Amino acid sequence: MALKAIVFIDGSWLYRSRSTVFAKLGEENFEVDYARLPRILSETLANAIDEDVSLVRTMYFGTIPSSRSSFNTSKQRAFYDFLEKSCHYDTEIHEVDVGHAEGRSDDMWIPMALASSMLFSAAMPSAYDVAILVSDDLAYAPALRCVRRMGKRVQVVSIHDTDGGLPLPGTSLVGKVRVSDFDPIFLDDHAAELKLVREMRTRICKQCGREEETTWAGPDFFCSECRGKYRNV
Ligand SMILES: [Zn+2]
Repeated sequence: MALKAIVFIDGSWLYRSRSTVFAKLGEENFEVDYARLPRILSETLANAIDEDVSLVRTMYFGTIPSSRSSFNTSKQRAFYDFLEKSCHYDTEIHEVDVGHAEGRSDDMWIPMALASSMLFSAAMPSAYDVAILVSDDLAYAPALRCVRRMGKRVQVVSIHDTDGGLPLPGTSLVGKVRVSDFDPIFLDDHAAELKLVREMRTRICKQCGREEETTWAGPDFFCSECRGKYRNV
């Protein structure tokens, strides 16, 4: 029987790690193929252990400035929406009170929420066999040890430092004992697969029905003319 895997993504860690992945390809910026990321990880694990791995869910934990702040969060909300609707992630997004950041522990929200979710699911009968953690933060060590004591296996996803070396001990889970069951997957080793390749294709405008060439892959497509009209309203 295939091992059931849940991917747990620390959105903050993934965001910080992107530049190292980009650097590996000699590029400053590109888009990560979020729809593909969980599959790349589960397939890499399956190949490494020579067992079938069935990806049952992807959980994404992130933050957003609170609606009371003056930050324009529409882009961020659209991104989280995209993760839910187009990539089929389950997202848990916490509103942070940016204006009153001092002394608050909002940065702890992601690790606490992620670790709680991982432990909760570990206690559910047959929810998963393997937790794939997309973060290399040492703060996860106690939760990972508990999950493993509950008979679950753990795959850590890390990233090399900018010189291609192993991450710094003391902050990283790599090389730590009793936190994982497999060699770490290094995201930068999969940089080429992680890069989103946008394909040109013909789509039909939802408003006027006209066909147009586009790289837009989202659910609803509007042609350039209709988008222009909308903007001018
Ligand atoms: Zn149109």
